[in-house]
Amino acid sequence: MSLDSTNFETQAVRTQTEKTQFLEHSSPMYLTSGFVFEDSEEMRAAFAEEKDRNLYSRFSNPNTTEFVDKICKLEGAEDGYAFATGMAAVFSTFAALLDAGDHIISARSVFGSTHSLFTKYFPKWNIETSYFRIDETEKIESLIRSNTKILYAESPTNPGVDILDLEVLGKIAKKHNLLLIIDNCFATPYLQNPIQFGADLVIHSATKLIDGQGRVLGGVTVGKKELIREIYLFSRNTGPALSPFNAWVLSKSLETLAVRVDRHCENAYKLAEFLEAHPKVNWVKYPFLKSHPQYEIAKRQMKSGGNIVAFEVNGGVQAGKTFFDTIKMCSLSANLGDTRTIVTHPASTTHSKLADEDKEVVGITNGMVRCSLGLEHIDDIIQDIKQALEEI
Ligand SMILES: *Cc1c(COP(=O)(O)O)cnc(C)c1O
Repeated sequence: MSLDSTNFETQAVRTQTEKTQFLEHSSPMYLTSGFVFEDSEEMRAAFAEEKDRNLYSRFSNPNTTEFVDKICKLEGAEDGYAFATGMAAVFSTFAALLDAGDHIISARSVFGSTHSLFTKYFPKWNIETSYFRIDETEKIESLIRSNTKILYAESPTNPGVDILDLEVLGKIAKKHNLLLIIDNCFATPYLQNPIQFGADLVIHSATKLIDGQGRVLGGVTVGKKELIREIYLFSRNTGPALSPFNAWVLSKSLETLAVRVDRHCENAYKLAEFLEAHPKVNWVKYPFLKSHPQYEIAKRQMKSGGNIVAFEVNGGVQAGKTFFDTIKMCSLSANLGDTRTIVTHPASTTHSKLADEDKEVVGITNGMVRCSLGLEHIDDIIQDIKQALEEI
């Protein structure tokens, strides 16, 4: 029996692969590389794609199918494909859809490895990328060329937690017949659904809040059926598939995504309010604080502000260093979206290679701290950050 619910929580919990003879309540794990056939005709029909069935786990597997089905429902997408990592999803999506000589327009502020694809690798295939600043979406149209194929962005951005107006991007993409691709990692499908605003494809690093417990890597791209078909054909030949084990873990993780993200956001909001009132903090950026430059846009397109808070400690690099060396509980790590609160210093770690001018464009200053709020009690998180600020 199934209830045809469109509620997020119900779909996240109740979307399951077909029952087997054992009627497991929790979906079993299908750790198999291949699948068998009754006879030669069945095998021929499967290879000819006349029959929708599993054949080989690089192509599909019941666990990856369950995970993808859930993400499709939660994002309002027609179809999808799951990858071993978020970067495999980003790379394969571009590689499947672009031809040599095509042009990309991207927000300047994107995940570091995505930026490396644009600057180091795609030029090998004569694929160029033009950039726009988060606060200059009105300039996007002037960047369009006859060979522009993709408009690409993330919102909220990493690490600046800036917000891009997805509706504006959707309109530009539609008017100029560009594919709009949104990396929705920071928001998760629970807080924001870019397809509603005109995105053709949505990408997630499932490693972050979707797993949410710092255990496995994974990625997924969902969206228009005909585009996913291209991405699927590229991927079944090139092999970036998600493992069934990780798919099983991630599918289970989705069952608790809504309750986890609610608490992540509650903690982040409370920390942001605390920091805003602290004398050793120059500024705080959190999408659902009224002081955020794109607060109105965030309120329009997101259900809540997410789990990332950015702030600047007073006193530049030295103050930043003291802050990190005095932290007792929060982890110093590059990951985000974990149950454990993580603090990162982008200027000396993830973004240390950027020129000062580029740091400014993506919203990084020397004293800036990125905090990924976890699920510890908020009093303990605030207490830890408070004692570190006192040492500055
Ligand atoms: C982490 C991240 C990625 C890459 O994901 P991996 O699973 O680490 O490969 C892509 N985009 C954003 C916004 C991310 O935060």
